Amino acid sequence: MTDTNRFFPKIKTSAFWQHANHYFDRVYQTMKLDELWRPVLASPRRVVSVSCPIRMDDGKIQVFTGYRVQHNNALGPFKGGLRYDMSVNLEEVMALAMLQTWKNALVGLPFGGAKGGVVCDPKTLSPGEKERLTRRYISQIMPVLGPDQDIPAPDVGTDAQVMAWVLDTYSMMVGHQELGAVTGKPVPLRGSVGREEATGRGVMCVLRKFLATQNKALGDVKVAVQGFGNVGFHTARLLEERGATVIAISERNGGIYCSTGIDTDAAGQYYRENGTLDDCPGCEALTNEEVLVCECDVLIPAAMENTIDEDIAPHIQAHTVVEAANGPVTPRADEILRENGVTVLPDILSNAGGVTVSYFEWVQGLDNYFWDLKRVQDELQRVMDRAFDAVNTQADEADCDYRTAAYTLAIRRVAEASSLRGLFP
Ligand code: NAD
Repeated sequence: MTDTNRFFPKIKTSAFWQHANHYFDRVYQTMKLDELWRPVLASPRRVVSVSCPIRMDDGKIQVFTGYRVQHNNALGPFKGGLRYDMSVNLEEVMALAMLQTWKNALVGLPFGGAKGGVVCDPKTLSPGEKERLTRRYISQIMPVLGPDQDIPAPDVGTDAQVMAWVLDTYSMMVGHQELGAVTGKPVPLRGSVGREEATGRGVMCVLRKFLATQNKALGDVKVAVQGFGNVGFHTARLLEERGATVIAISERNGGIYCSTGIDTDAAGQYYRENGTLDDCPGCEALTNEEVLVCECDVLIPAAMENTIDEDIAPHIQAHTVVEAANGPVTPRADEILRENGVTVLPDILSNAGGVTVSYFEWVQGLDNYFWDLKRVQDELQRVMDRAFDAVNTQADEADCDYRTAAYTLAIRRVAEASSLRGLFP
């Protein structure tokens, strides 16, 4: 296990950072790579911590804490999402930045990995407060951002509107419009068509490819989805559109169930209008835990990290878990699922559709040439299919699980790039 405190002596080690290191270390040890590079790959290149004072609507000043962690840029500029949530902490952001490095490498994007976060509850901020917070945070981390340096995107608690403020703040500060500085922008501001649903579409592509290896199709499976935000909603919607039966969905405060299949569009509209799935027409209420352990074929955690732990894992009935969220399955739960014959399709593969279309958006912004939806969807499918095939082949050849296979490919690419580049000075 990598000792975090060697690099950041004042940081208390949290579970998620330990988990990210565990997955990295476990695979690195099997790869016969030079041990000298191990701490280089395990440690973030740069950690920025800022405090952002904001004038609140009531006239008071509140100070928010924000982070940007840049993990590794051997393969290209840093790239990764920006999270607004009360649970954000430095080690969570470090873990997410590391996962992003492996994900970008696995799907072959010319990016390194980064992540940002601000400790706040975006639901309690007014639009004005959220805008001021975004602009202040971006202006404070400005020196480490840029289209060739580090490119943010949406994550939990942020959306296209937040990315519009990121674009505007960055562009105002450099004195010209810089479309390549951020992705996940609104389409009228030259965001990419197809970006909003891209993570869900990627999840759908990966599940479809996996089921094909089992001689099954999406129409053959009953699915439960945990989390009903950007990723959960679009995943559920696209799976239903392709013939899967989505029988259970949950959000932070509880879930719903319908044995014949939930109308995901209607549930999405209900959730947007009411901020809850409680009393959603045509559905029974379930607890969050009941959604995870319900009788289904495929379970898709699309909420937060560590939601499937060793307590819940033994009770999961699905034969396949697709990690749409980042880090939803803890290492111990991963082992239990494996022992129980459950296939886990890992986050760095399954949810890479979002960053892939972010890459397309970055390319379009730099070129000032914009693609239509069909091109975005076709190219996304090509990238996801190719990544799945590579992981599947590696898993077959090494006779290992999908997570090990995915990490092996990703770490190999980053390790090779790092050692080819060497150290400066
Ligand atoms: P979001 O803020 O849009 O939605 C999060 C959802 O999870 C909400 O519905 C919330 O109610 C629910 N939730 C939170 N805790 C829960 C719990 N314990 N049980 C059930 N539901 C819970 O966020 P998002 O953008 O959909 O991101 C979800 C996950 O996907 C995160 O792990 C994120 O890092 C990952 N991810 C997002 C993207 C993207 O493009 N947005 C890309 C790759 C990975």
